[in-house]
Amino acid sequence: MDPVTIFFIATLMMLANGGVLGLMHKDLPLPMRPAAASWRIATLLFAGGSILFAAQGLNPPAYTLALANALVMFGFTGYLRALRQFYGLKDQLWVMVPAALGTVAVFWLTLGTADVGGRILTVSVVWSVLMVACIVVLVSQERRDGARSRRVMAGLFTAVALFVLFRAGYFVVIGVNPAFSVLGAGAWMNIATPMVAATLPVIGTTAFLLMCSERIRRQWERAASTDYLTGLPNRRTLVEMGLKRFEQARTSAASGGFGLAIVDIDHFKRINDEHGHEMGDVALKHVAGRLQSACRGAELPARQGGEEFVVLFDNLQLHDAPAAGERLRQAVAQAPFTAGDLVLPLTVSIGLAVLRADDTHFDSLLRRADEALYVAKATGRNRVEIAPERAMEPSSTGSGVGLPA
Ligand code: GH3
Ligand code: MG
Ligand code: MG
Repeated sequence: MDPVTIFFIATLMMLANGGVLGLMHKDLPLPMRPAAASWRIATLLFAGGSILFAAQGLNPPAYTLALANALVMFGFTGYLRALRQFYGLKDQLWVMVPAALGTVAVFWLTLGTADVGGRILTVSVVWSVLMVACIVVLVSQERRDGARSRRVMAGLFTAVALFVLFRAGYFVVIGVNPAFSVLGAGAWMNIATPMVAATLPVIGTTAFLLMCSERIRRQWERAASTDYLTGLPNRRTLVEMGLKRFEQARTSAASGGFGLAIVDIDHFKRINDEHGHEMGDVALKHVAGRLQSACRGAELPARQGGEEFVVLFDNLQLHDAPAAGERLRQAVAQAPFTAGDLVLPLTVSIGLAVLRADDTHFDSLLRRADEALYVAKATGRNRVEIAPERAMEPSSTGSGVGLPA
């Protein structure tokens, strides 16, 4: 295939991919749309550049070649901007600088000095700078998400950047004569260049859509497993994790035990009644934060519902239970809730149950913790009550630390 045909086919594919992105625009969540719009504009700039390169076969005025290069440089800029927007980075003017300087230089080197080698080098440097900036944005998100599509995108940019550097080196070594044309037939480099350059607008656009869909999937997963108000795991996650830990503790001899605490805010209704429901919501978030910061290691705090939380412990034995419960209680009691001038001391009552041989279901552990909570409420609140170690005989008088099971 000759370079003109390749540029022409590449243009059609870029337009098709940009078009698909355009059709999907309204299906994307609002926060992703600016990045998608930037990506689409960048792809169209590439398509414009590509068609102008193809048109070199018709001997158009010299400035069209400079314009083609400028469009592609701004196309790369658009991809950088899209990636920055996708990851919530602020728009910054410097992003435009490489392509702006490159455009001035390319017009000068094409129309002024007709320095083909200089033009190739300039364009290669601008592309490389922009692609390295894209790679930095993508790689710096590694800790935030392990999305495979982001890695694919980083790989694409790296492959294209390596090719561009190789191409610049190739022309430095073999030298270019003033009659060089991007469409010079036969030279394999002239065939490879449009094919590689089309990778980003064509395959990259698919990778970008995958990045969007992966983010949407993660957001749904998070929404389904997290309590929207406090950001803690919700009841669904609590039951899932609780069942898992419960089974592990029951079946593994190496397990160090298992237990859970139900934590209920004392007299919470008063906060709503006296300060309004919204203030109640803020107070709930405050308590959630306190519980979260009091948890250690694999301990998992969750919002069970209303003003009630559950903390799943890991490796909890009965003799450690009072201290574990106290740690949670004090974390709330020692940090009054403040909002502006308002200072509200908040306390919680806690019912804690540690796995017993006769706990055949996770629910029985929850039920025993709930019974202990009831005792903590009935005996003055701001207390920790531990569910009894063994099931009581009907004639027993109770241990004084919890309700008979
Ligand atoms: P106790 O010490 O016996 O637990 O008393 P309490 O007032 O905390 O308990 P009660 O069950 O009487 O009231 C719980 C209140 O929690 C009632 C409900 O309006 C409030 N509540 C539940 N969920 C939310 C919420 O998401 N936001 C707000 N602001 N209030 C909530
Ligand atoms: Mg309460
Ligand atoms: Mg309650």
